[in-house]
Amino acid sequence: GPGPGLGKAAGPAVGTARAAGSELIRLERVTKRFGTNTVLDNLDFSVDAGKHVTLIGPSGSGKTTILRVLMTLLKPDEGTVTVDGEQLFPAPEKQVREIRKKIGMVFQHFNLFPNMTVLRNITEAPVTVLGLSRDEAEERARELLEMVGLTEHTDKHPAQLSGGQQQRVAIARALAMRPQVLLLDEVTSALDPELVAGVLDVLRDIARSTDITMLCVTHEMGFARDISDRVLMFDHGRIIESAPPEKLFSEPEHDRTREFLSAVL
Ligand code: ADP
Repeated sequence: GPGPGLGKAAGPAVGTARAAGSELIRLERVTKRFGTNTVLDNLDFSVDAGKHVTLIGPSGSGKTTILRVLMTLLKPDEGTVTVDGEQLFPAPEKQVREIRKKIGMVFQHFNLFPNMTVLRNITEAPVTVLGLSRDEAEERARELLEMVGLTEHTDKHPAQLSGGQQQRVAIARALAMRPQVLLLDEVTSALDPELVAGVLDVLRDIARSTDITMLCVTHEMGFARDISDRVLMFDHGRIIESAPPEKLFSEPEHDRTREFLSAVL
């Protein structure tokens, strides 16, 4: 945990004021088409605060599109999306910005700022977007770097780190904004196999030790089984099965789920 004098005034490095159990995300009848391709097909689901939900399913089934809709990078053609009680699409620009602050995202490719140190990568947005002082932002960044196991790399540049270390910086950078929800889009898919476990361990630790809500797209079924409260199986833009991991992985109800799992496990 944090040393003497750390953490108290600033509060925990990760955490939100949301009451656990209240609904944080809701999608209702969401449809998204690209031309004639219906990528999200009349989709309904919700995620309660503090829960960890994993999206699995074949490539092209719409999982990433969901995350992009929640990040307000894509607008659905139909349906409503609500985050923390506030509706997106349509929403005034100011409301969209406020909702975006509640959402952190980590991508397959880490997208760090190459010309900034690790510390600066993490402090930049809290200073410029949230208006924290540089000291406050650095204090929080150092706690997060300890959490992701990178304290000794604080002053390096991204190119001096392995892919796995860069991805852990990207996770710390997302958490530095104190989002209520963390969206993880295949965050280990671009890594060399020997670097995957270190990143998944950090995410397991975050899932276990914080109250942040997590929505992950992953092909790592062991990880999904470990961290998820619920697993959603996607196929052709629909959720065909939604169940706790012990149920979905052991006794899937749908043939499509069974076929998919036997192909990936
Ligand atoms: P998944 O994450 O499950 O692999 P995606 O959500 O990335 O699936 O993609 C779902 C479908 O949407 C795919 O058929 C993909 O080709 C299509 N798609 C995604 N983005 C675009 C886009 N910007 N323009 C056209 N088609 C797209």
